[in-house]
Amino acid sequence: MILAHRIRLVPTVEQERYFRQACGVARFASNWALAEWQRRYAAGEKPNEVTLRKALNAIKREQFPWMRDVTKNAPQQAIKNLGRAYANFFDDLKAHRRNAMPWKRVRVPKFKRKGKTHASFRADNGCDAHHPDAVAVNGKRVKLSIIGWVTMREEVRFAGQIVSVTVSREADAWYASFTIDVPEEPTAHVLTNTVGVDLWVSALATRSDDTPKAPAPKPLRRYLKKLKRLSRALSRKRRGSRNRAKEKATLARLHARIRHIRQDALHKITTDLVRTAATIVIEDLNVAGMLANRHLSRAIADLGFFEFRRQLAYKTAMAGGALIVADRWFPSSKLCSVCDVENATLALWERTWTCASCGTFHDRDRNAAVNLARLVPQGEYPESWAGSACGAEGAGRRRQTTVKPAA
Ligand SMILES: [Zn+2]
Repeated sequence: MILAHRIRLVPTVEQERYFRQACGVARFASNWALAEWQRRYAAGEKPNEVTLRKALNAIKREQFPWMRDVTKNAPQQAIKNLGRAYANFFDDLKAHRRNAMPWKRVRVPKFKRKGKTHASFRADNGCDAHHPDAVAVNGKRVKLSIIGWVTMREEVRFAGQIVSVTVSREADAWYASFTIDVPEEPTAHVLTNTVGVDLWVSALATRSDDTPKAPAPKPLRRYLKKLKRLSRALSRKRRGSRNRAKEKATLARLHARIRHIRQDALHKITTDLVRTAATIVIEDLNVAGMLANRHLSRAIADLGFFEFRRQLAYKTAMAGGALIVADRWFPSSKLCSVCDVENATLALWERTWTCASCGTFHDRDRNAAVNLARLVPQGEYPESWAGSACGAEGAGRRRQTTVKPAA
């Protein structure tokens, strides 16, 4: 299982200078390859990242000798990433031609500008037979190629092979993102119970058992006013001015703070869930459809449902639990969990309702969570599910899905 793990770095002045230089090399390589890609395409060729990486290697020594001051993987990975960006672009283009995607959502590979608040480069030299780990780690230190030992805020939490390390800057903080291959040893969860979880805007997570609803972290709403004010202030500042750069940094810090608060809240909820339930059943939210609804979109983007599911997937896998994703069309909210009669007229804004058939008064979220839990009867956690993420229409039917690490 490949996991991503991001740790804040505490670089020295010299190390930070190297980081900036390497980010610059990665950006340059990406832009060089994009220009070359466009040129070759216009000339009737079919460019790809492999030939472009070879082409850059062939001229690097002569034309860009300064590139060799940083790890060779910085420019190489940047071009690989461009290849990925083109693959995404072609996928989107196909969807666009099928009329399944508006043009404005098509991800077109772009030139990277200097002075962005986010920049990154791959900081290791890769792994081979002699170096099973891409970098050495010793407690709160990581040994990056060329620059050597860099201090980290915390230790690497997962045991496994370190496949790669990317160093990135967000606002004015530096991070190391490790990709770690953690061996999968399917162990059965210590519990056998099932919990259904309903996700919604007002209460982020409602469980099918009696646990109180976890309140939604709404950092974005709280900070939105501040964000708006700052963005307005920024647009009034003259381009290239010192004040503008300052405001831009403040804004980036605010964005980072919002993201961290949200991330923190999600980690607490998902860890708690995985510790207290063997099988977790969630809905397959049609998030794309929801994002198209402007009123819901901000709150949902704020809550990070994608992230919620991603965390649950890898955490259940590590604890030997199972994550069951109910079918998208399963009417978890509209079904009465007592008598199974569907309330077809239940509107989105109705947070409570009374079943016309059996008279039960329902809290919308709790009822949905109970319906999800009922897909896998209590105690029916078979050991063969250990560490799996399944898609299920009803219980039982298993489909292995990959656990994706954070981008
Ligand atoms: Zn009923």
